[in-house]
Amino acid sequence: MSATDTAPARHRPDMAKVVLSVRDLKKWFPIKKGIFSKVVGQVKAVDGVSFDIHAGETLGLVGESGCGKTTVGRTILRLNDPVTAGSAIFHGQDVFALQGGDLRALRRDMQIIFQDPYSSLNPRMTVEAIVGEALTVHGVVAGKKERRERVKDLLEKCGLDPVRHISRYPHEFSGGQRQRIGIARAIALEPDLIVCDEPVSALDVSIQAQIINLLQRLQEEMGIAYLFIAHGLAVVEHISHRVAVMYLGRIAEIADSKTLYENPVHPYTRALLSAIPNPDPDAPMNPHPLEGEVPTPINPPAGCRFHTRCRFAEARCKSDEIPIPIYEIGPGHQVACILGE
Ligand code: SF4
Repeated sequence: MSATDTAPARHRPDMAKVVLSVRDLKKWFPIKKGIFSKVVGQVKAVDGVSFDIHAGETLGLVGESGCGKTTVGRTILRLNDPVTAGSAIFHGQDVFALQGGDLRALRRDMQIIFQDPYSSLNPRMTVEAIVGEALTVHGVVAGKKERRERVKDLLEKCGLDPVRHISRYPHEFSGGQRQRIGIARAIALEPDLIVCDEPVSALDVSIQAQIINLLQRLQEEMGIAYLFIAHGLAVVEHISHRVAVMYLGRIAEIADSKTLYENPVHPYTRALLSAIPNPDPDAPMNPHPLEGEVPTPINPPAGCRFHTRCRFAEARCKSDEIPIPIYEIGPGHQVACILGE
């Protein structure tokens, strides 16, 4: 582990300053068939998601594969145009209405770190070209010399050797080092928000902690907000100030980290939490096992979408006639479940 990777104290976000406000976001993908590409259905990947992210805050977004969490991240970055419905206000601007220069400015302030450090870096580009590309495109540097110095600073910030590594190609690096290159690229333009799309899930467990510590340190130094997308709750525990749990295109529960981990209400959150391995051999066995498969987002279950796997389900959970409201059960703690009544 590099000397710069020791776990930093958790950054204190500015909860009075909302950076991104997402409301009732929907992203459906049409299913087309036949030679005339007739639309025969919709994959409702994201189906009514709302949340805020504050300055310098990390919001963990967690759920099983196919729950729509990556689609949320890509949609707010305008990588999944067009949006189906809803709004995303970033620094007071409607993200989905931006065009031309305003959209380019958005791309400068909102960046992404991809899941797979093996495929997200162009194998034919040197580290200098990869990390420095955005500096040139956005006219941040005057020439090659200045760009090289800026890239060296960024590499050093991300725990890479600026002299030895700057002229190398991605295949010469380990997975953890490649993810550091991806992070250096993402912070090059000093963004206010980075969507971290499962940035550690392709890495060894020992390397995961180093990358998370690096992201926390950068947040402390630069005040960046993160939307940190992950498969399970164990990964986001140490980096997130708040956590949103997603199930089948919707948020099931959202709360500050301490509340969510100590006092979860939604049966899905409880199941995810009890799936975290406990190193204590005397600890009780998983009391809330998750059974069955996630239903298809093409034809999601009526009522509460979790009812097909929920052992607390009642008749009213299975009908759209009385929609399950979102209950506010504590400050900032919301749950879409009748157990929140
Ligand atoms: Fe289970 Fe009903 Fe709550 Fe859904 S609303 S999680 S089915 S108890």
